[in-house]
Amino acid sequence: MKRLMTQLLNLPGVIVENSLETESTIILSVRATNKTAVCPRCGQKSHRLHHNKRHLVKDLPISNRAVILSVNRRQFKCEFCRKPFSEILDFVEHKKSFTKRLALNITEQVIQSDISNVAKNNTLTPEQVESMVKVVAESVINVDVRELRRLGIDEISLVKGQGKFIVVLVDLETHKLLGLVSEKKTVIYRKLSSKMG
Ligand SMILES: [Zn+2]
Repeated sequence: MKRLMTQLLNLPGVIVENSLETESTIILSVRATNKTAVCPRCGQKSHRLHHNKRHLVKDLPISNRAVILSVNRRQFKCEFCRKPFSEILDFVEHKKSFTKRLALNITEQVIQSDISNVAKNNTLTPEQVESMVKVVAESVINVDVRELRRLGIDEISLVKGQGKFIVVLVDLETHKLLGLVSEKKTVIYRKLSSKMG
């Protein structure tokens, strides 16, 4: 059952230890498969588990049911500097309550629609959707321009404040999301292009 759930979740490097289901929600207790973590201070590998610390993270739905991951972000103790540290997990940004792949999926929906509709369709608040778009905007996506035929440029307007937006780059042939440029960089770009006339 655990193996099946792990396969179904399909999140690389993550195993499901336990599952709970209701009619509308699946709750999966998960942890990273690796037995060691690298200390952020000294870069030494540690296998000394300090303690387990769980937090809830929303993931992509399965068969129309909401998926909540109870993530064990383990604390290790560095054998070298003797201090405890939390492991870094690939699939979720530190202190965020959603997976990176959910953020990407939601952002792709926003590109086709807008923040308030996407929020409604996914039972999220507009602020949660905005937070996901920002996480995606901050991650760097490599674009292979050789494969690119038609580039689409669009904007996502953010909920709070005026004139706040994120520029979206889409491959119009494949409809694949290529990248997002966050507000700060966009403002710089705008200033530059207005100066250049
Ligand atoms: Zn260390």
